[in-house]
Amino acid sequence: MSKIAHTFQDKARTGDVVISEAISFDSLLLSKTVLNGLKNSGFDRPSPIQLKAIPLGRCGLDLIVQAKSGTGKTCVFSVVALETVLTDTASTQILVLAPTREIAVQIWEVMTGLGSAMKGLECHTFIGGMPLHEDRMKLKKCHIAVGTPGRIKQLIEGGVLLTDSIRLFILDEADKLLEESFQEQINWIYSMLPDNKQMLALSATYPEYLADHLTAYMRNPTFLRLNISDPALLGIRQFYALVPYHPIAHAVFEEKTKALVHLLSSVSFQQCLIFSNLQTRAQTLADVLNSKGWPTACIAGCLDQRDRNHAMAKLKTYKCRILISTDLTSRGIDADKVNLVVNLDVPKDHETYLHRIGRAGRFGSFGIAVTLVSDGQEQLSLDSIQKRCNTQVHPLPV
Ligand code: ADP
Repeated sequence: MSKIAHTFQDKARTGDVVISEAISFDSLLLSKTVLNGLKNSGFDRPSPIQLKAIPLGRCGLDLIVQAKSGTGKTCVFSVVALETVLTDTASTQILVLAPTREIAVQIWEVMTGLGSAMKGLECHTFIGGMPLHEDRMKLKKCHIAVGTPGRIKQLIEGGVLLTDSIRLFILDEADKLLEESFQEQINWIYSMLPDNKQMLALSATYPEYLADHLTAYMRNPTFLRLNISDPALLGIRQFYALVPYHPIAHAVFEEKTKALVHLLSSVSFQQCLIFSNLQTRAQTLADVLNSKGWPTACIAGCLDQRDRNHAMAKLKTYKCRILISTDLTSRGIDADKVNLVVNLDVPKDHETYLHRIGRAGRFGSFGIAVTLVSDGQEQLSLDSIQKRCNTQVHPLPV
């Protein structure tokens, strides 16, 4: 069984994930099988959000959980799910929704790792871009279904995924799932589920109006929100580098490419994620970096699903040191060697900024985030992000 957890001792960790009490998962009164699964996957001590949320989730409460990126929310809902599931029937009892296909696959990895000691457990992913006939086969026996809203809706509509036994409904990256682009699908899926069910919603950020909106779906939810006023990870040093403004966008892009190449050659890093606001730029930049001798992969929504999976696998198996991405991977993606995040452009809002830079400090580790900013409007946008995150972004030392 491969270890999916981080080993506390192998590097310094920030207070975001270290609890002061000497508590292990054993003290959370979990079942033997789940404890064995945690142990098999290398999980030893709970993080602060795990310590708080797992016991409440196990009591059957509806929860709205907010904790910084990479502090262990996936393990929270996976443990609650595994403690709830019954494996002596074939029916689907737990439905987990995620906003991207990559996140769904990652959840499945954690769920199957933690469920590794559970005899007969069937957990499967259902995502767009993969063949439907495989989904039909998987659903013959599937206790936990993890998927993206579009494919899940299609399977329920087609009568392939039966919802009458669903007792636990989980929204990972809940604020994203409640955005307009998903609203209609989520409402529809929700309307197809039994009334009597538990609901968990998790994210690193919730704009206030969405937190209110979420409660409408739930029964008297309990809010568990850590670090709302101070949402940036403690382990990430944040910098910006200024490039000259030019009225032609492509000229700014060229300046930024130059600054980026200089940055990559002067900063020491293990793996790096670069975020571009535009899909077209992502591919061009990947070509430039490859031609300069940096093994670089690119992931964007316009790529075929198999190419997307391939790019993620390359990052995780260290076949590339740099992954260029659009905001598709700003959330949820967990690659523990990434310790440099570069924003080729200032992201559209502070939530996206936090999710992006959170890729460089998984489970309380240390990393650097650099935002490339052109003089003028972009600088103002970064200022406003700093204020919203209550954080300081420093000029990059020469
Ligand atoms: P989040 O969902 O909050 O963004 P994840 O659940 O993806 O965070 O966890 C981030 C990383 O930390 C993952 O690699 C996960 O395996 C690891 N991790 C989570 N909880 C623990 C723990 N208690 N001990 C060690 N590693 C953990």
